[in-house]
Amino acid sequence: MSVIASNLQAVLARIANACRLAGRAPESVGLLAVSKTWPTDGVLAAAAAGQRVFGESYAQEALTKMTSTRGLGLEWHFIGPLQSNKTRAVAEHFAWVHSIDRAKLAERLSAQRPAGLPPLQVCVQVNVSNEASKSGCRPEEALALCRAVVAQPNLSLRGLMTIPQPTDNVAAQRAAFGRLRQLREDLRQTAGFELDTLSMGMSDDLEAAVAEGATIVRVGTAIFGERTP
Ligand SMILES: *Cc1c(COP(=O)(O)O)cnc(C)c1O
Repeated sequence: MSVIASNLQAVLARIANACRLAGRAPESVGLLAVSKTWPTDGVLAAAAAGQRVFGESYAQEALTKMTSTRGLGLEWHFIGPLQSNKTRAVAEHFAWVHSIDRAKLAERLSAQRPAGLPPLQVCVQVNVSNEASKSGCRPEEALALCRAVVAQPNLSLRGLMTIPQPTDNVAAQRAAFGRLRQLREDLRQTAGFELDTLSMGMSDDLEAAVAEGATIVRVGTAIFGERTP
């Protein structure tokens, strides 16, 4: 078995265990394999081990991997910061975008989504850690941003995403993820959005995220290894 295949099994076992502890069905959490900075070989190894859904942060890098894995039926999610002038490649080639942090991105992605493709599935990224430097809208901006997304004909609003400030403290991890879950409840009640997706949890904190209701965890390092800068 390849290293990536055994890493993938270990991550799936962590997710299954976290689900068991939380009284959740293991199928209720999807694994997004974050292959950013890793070459196509890594994607191929994970795909051979059964992984179908991959996350990327750089559109050009992702396009290369998409081209060389065409025919494998892989699904690609864009998860990185997105400049307004770089939306076209994302609108044309990805199935999901997790990192919508302003209305202008939603407008451009919808306008550039090719006719004939299904709507782009999107999450609104929220900063739940109150750090000025981190991307994501402020929690109090999320309602307006969700409204801006649902007004777009070629986008489908699926949920919320967050990248909390990293911490080893499990209680602090859970508190941050809990804030995203609570925000989803508030948005459901005040505006009636469905929001079936909570995209939260990475290699170091996926257990806390699953405990707080994550439906997609985004895992890179634990599958592919340490990224070298
Ligand atoms: C890189 C990245 C991940 C994966 O992080 P790991 O710690 O390597 O698991 C998840 N989400 C986003 C948005 C990322 O950029």
